[in-house]
Amino acid sequence: MQKCIFCKISNKEIPGHIIFENEHVLAFLDISQTTLGHTLVIPKKHVEDVFSMTEEDMTHVFSIIPKLATALKKTFHADGMNIVNNNKPVAGQTVFHYHVHLIPRYSFEDSFNVHYVNNAALYTPDSLSELKEEIISNL
Ligand code: 5GP
Ligand code: ZN
Repeated sequence: MQKCIFCKISNKEIPGHIIFENEHVLAFLDISQTTLGHTLVIPKKHVEDVFSMTEEDMTHVFSIIPKLATALKKTFHADGMNIVNNNKPVAGQTVFHYHVHLIPRYSFEDSFNVHYVNNAALYTPDSLSELKEEIISNL
């Protein structure tokens, strides 16, 4: 994957502000700094998105996240943190190397927000049961 920007950072072909590295995982500052300390965590090997991640890949990435989140919170005196992962363009993915965003939060009015619409009124216990069964049949 020669053209992948995150592979290039991982291979040290281009500079990245790396805050953590081990055999499998790299964490570096997101260039956009949506909020102060905005960090990306990636598997070193090129995996496009969650649909191609193995359980082992995911274990490597997520096992380091509590330590990183705690360090970011402490460093910047953040009040909270959003942990976000976008998969496929429709979900906002723009770099197609799996990554988890750590976005420290400082106030309800800072530069990041999450918008959940509550559609609970559209569902009944029976329709939710049908959904549940459909999903289970694909596990
Ligand atoms: P996505 O939209 O795919 O979830 O997130 C991609 C992220 O990668 C964006 O937040 C963007 O700012 C970041 N990004 C894109 N190019 C670079 C780069 O060259 N270096 C760094 N550090 N971050 C990048
Ligand atoms: Zn890559």
